[in-house]
Amino acid sequence: MFGFIRKTLSSIYTQFTSKVRTLFTRSVVDQETLHELEKILISSDTGISTTRTIITNLKAQVANGSIAQGSDLHKALGEQLVALLKVRPYDYTADIYLLVGINGSGKTTFAGKLGFWLKGQHKKVLFIAGDTFRAAATEQLNSWGQKIGIPVVIGKEHQDPASVVFAGCEQFKTGDYSALIIDTAGRLQTKVNLMKELEKIKRSIEKQLPGKKIATLLTIDAMLGQNSFEQAKIFNESTHVDGLILTKMDGTGKGGIVFSIIQELQIPVAFISYGEQPEQLSLFNPEQYVTDLLSE
Ligand code: GDP
Ligand code: MG
Repeated sequence: MFGFIRKTLSSIYTQFTSKVRTLFTRSVVDQETLHELEKILISSDTGISTTRTIITNLKAQVANGSIAQGSDLHKALGEQLVALLKVRPYDYTADIYLLVGINGSGKTTFAGKLGFWLKGQHKKVLFIAGDTFRAAATEQLNSWGQKIGIPVVIGKEHQDPASVVFAGCEQFKTGDYSALIIDTAGRLQTKVNLMKELEKIKRSIEKQLPGKKIATLLTIDAMLGQNSFEQAKIFNESTHVDGLILTKMDGTGKGGIVFSIIQELQIPVAFISYGEQPEQLSLFNPEQYVTDLLSE
């Protein structure tokens, strides 16, 4: 049985999994083996401090004899990686999804996939095109809507996004919808402006749709690796983020980025996204990710 990573995220397989697996076949694991592992972890964007934590723990286990051979290393590394991914569980029961993240990070594409996923669960889904700054952005969401059969609430170009959200919430109520996906602009304004805009949108939703559960999801482009942090942090400091979406996982070989992102932001990953097709989306499960990352 080939794992998800080998089948779907082939670049992670060649750049991380296949390399780390050669260590698991060693009959003896020593300091030199851990040094090789350290290099693999660093080169896959696991991050300096996360890598240091992992290696320090493994060194202690080599010293006390609990890691002697490759198979012991496989098990011990797996346990540590899973623990690093478990910040808090992500709750998949939201009614309303507010998508935030920088321009180009994959919000609109993810909106389409999320809509497709929710439809698969027999939800009646509505999109709101909250990115009113570029006509092309609205057009892009519209074409996803047409492709998968989800109506899209559209404002005028440069209209205040909160007022488009207002109109969308009205349509949600009158049309008896059960799931709402709000795509937003990814302008990197000042933190204060961004905060005000997102708070205004959230207040509008809370007022019009009281009792509905809102999930704010932050998209992060996995291909950018360590460079994605600074921008992600601005969003995280501007609003409460419930879950992360790691996008373009098909384009990165840096399977370690997931660990450094979660360690840095302390927010659970809700979904991973890979490719341009509606079904190229997976719920993120820490145990499964690590099992796939470390196995054939
Ligand atoms: P937005 O500006 O945040 O809404 O980002 P978009 O959804 O428009 O995505 C930016 C670009 O990345 C587009 O060309 C998408 O087709 C592409 N893209 C988005 N998600 C993925 C993905 O998971 N894999 C790949 N390969 N490309 C993606
Ligand atoms: Mg967009």
